[in-house]
Amino acid sequence: MDRLKSEFVATVSHELRTPMTAIKGYVDILTMGAAGPLNENQVHFLDVVRNNIERLNILVSDLLDISRIESGRIILEQQPVNLHDIAEEVVAETLRRSQTENKPIALSLESQRNLPLVIGDNGRVRQILSNLVNNAYNYTPENGTIRVNIHQDAERGEVQVDVEDNGIGIRPDDQARLFDRFFRGEHPLVLATPGTGLGLPIVRQLVEMHKGRIWMKSTGVPGEGSIFSFTLPVYKNGE
Ligand code: ADP
Repeated sequence: MDRLKSEFVATVSHELRTPMTAIKGYVDILTMGAAGPLNENQVHFLDVVRNNIERLNILVSDLLDISRIESGRIILEQQPVNLHDIAEEVVAETLRRSQTENKPIALSLESQRNLPLVIGDNGRVRQILSNLVNNAYNYTPENGTIRVNIHQDAERGEVQVDVEDNGIGIRPDDQARLFDRFFRGEHPLVLATPGTGLGLPIVRQLVEMHKGRIWMKSTGVPGEGSIFSFTLPVYKNGE
């Protein structure tokens, strides 16, 4: 039953993509004025349509991802991965986002010297980190701070990544449900942010497929923020 359900979700999400691409294409054409000049109202309405297509796109790609992961159809391409390099890219991308959206956020990245490589799928590791940093960005009001810290846990043979923010935090009651599919908080900043509640379940599955661990800490006091941490196994020569 589970496999059938996953296949159904995968097919439906895939089929939704085609009409959505067409809708977006025509909205772009209209916005460019190809069907005649637009007044301010019309431009605004087209913006609303475009934003909602974007939301649908995120939903569909998250649904596709989770159904692929759950039906075991994602195969990791494991190789030695440099976590610091990936984190640098993700931080740079988020800084660009903060500039485009005019939402100032201080972002910093600290890595331990001589950090060992980990074993993982480059694209998926990037997806994990990008998701956590984007959540930190989304759920931290402007002028907040995000810190990414990467360090080795030599005893466990792992590298640990902490993503810390000083945003709205997560209430103790909500913490147990955080990694459930479709769970979203009720804070006004969450309600104002487009999202599916599929990000963290996807991240957790991906971390576990890598034989890593993931957890979080938050006092639940707004302004005290949260820390999301995950680990990946250190790459050993000859693996
Ligand atoms: P989404 O971001 O699409 O809502 P996620 O699965 O990534 O989905 O996150 C689920 C919920 O967890 C969010 O709606 C939010 O309530 C909470 N959350 C996640 N990350 C943070 C964070 N860094 N600070 C505060 N709340 C968070």
